[in-house]
Amino acid sequence: MIKTIILLIVIAILGTFIYLKLQVSGDPNSTFNQSTRYTLGKHPWLRTIFSLRSFGDARAEFFSGSGPIIIEWFKPQTEDMDFSGVLDKFSQAVAGYTGREVKVTRSGSVDDSTLAIANLAVYKLNASVKESGGGSALLVFFTSDYSPRGNNELSATYEETGMVIALTAHKKFAQDYSQDLNTYLLSSLSHEFGHQIGLSHNTDPKCIMSLHAGIDGKPLESYGRTTPQDFCQVEKEQIANLKLQFGN
Ligand SMILES: [Zn+2]
Repeated sequence: MIKTIILLIVIAILGTFIYLKLQVSGDPNSTFNQSTRYTLGKHPWLRTIFSLRSFGDARAEFFSGSGPIIIEWFKPQTEDMDFSGVLDKFSQAVAGYTGREVKVTRSGSVDDSTLAIANLAVYKLNASVKESGGGSALLVFFTSDYSPRGNNELSATYEETGMVIALTAHKKFAQDYSQDLNTYLLSSLSHEFGHQIGLSHNTDPKCIMSLHAGIDGKPLESYGRTTPQDFCQVEKEQIANLKLQFGN
């Protein structure tokens, strides 16, 4: 009798797992599949079990996780740029849009040469912020360059909890165009964070989620605009809706 009950429980657990696995990896156009995915993604251990490592998978955690969001950042050993100003502004934006407390902490150094995104896991493991318990980790990897990186790409998301920023490309950008380095860095940080909380690209040049950097290889000036440092009104409304959906 007991054996039968245990067997039934095991079958029920396996059945539930298979059902949920099918849901979270199901049709990207299905609202049901996607909301199951993001709801489960609130918990780091569930993201691990269901292999939810794409950008946006931790959106529910960013809006409603416990403890602070801890921005843990890495930079190349020989890079002497002062990141405190831009990270301060970025952390204020993250706090404002998520409604959570945000802390910034410096982590170790990354390799000075081009970093393969696939190898960032090594540094992630060394991060002092654990993904469960004491808060939500938001990892920022400032690198000289990273691969694979498209021609005009300045930054990319890293899995579901971070981003990687190509410094050499940003410095060139600041040289070639009218705004300063920190402006471009803040714009890229916000753009990647936008992806992590669930925003998609748009085509409005006044918006951070537009692909504003070096479109078709043309400079920003040829579009008669500058790089936005804050989300535009449409994006603010999208974030407010995401917060309603995934916040506490
Ligand atoms: Zn993007």
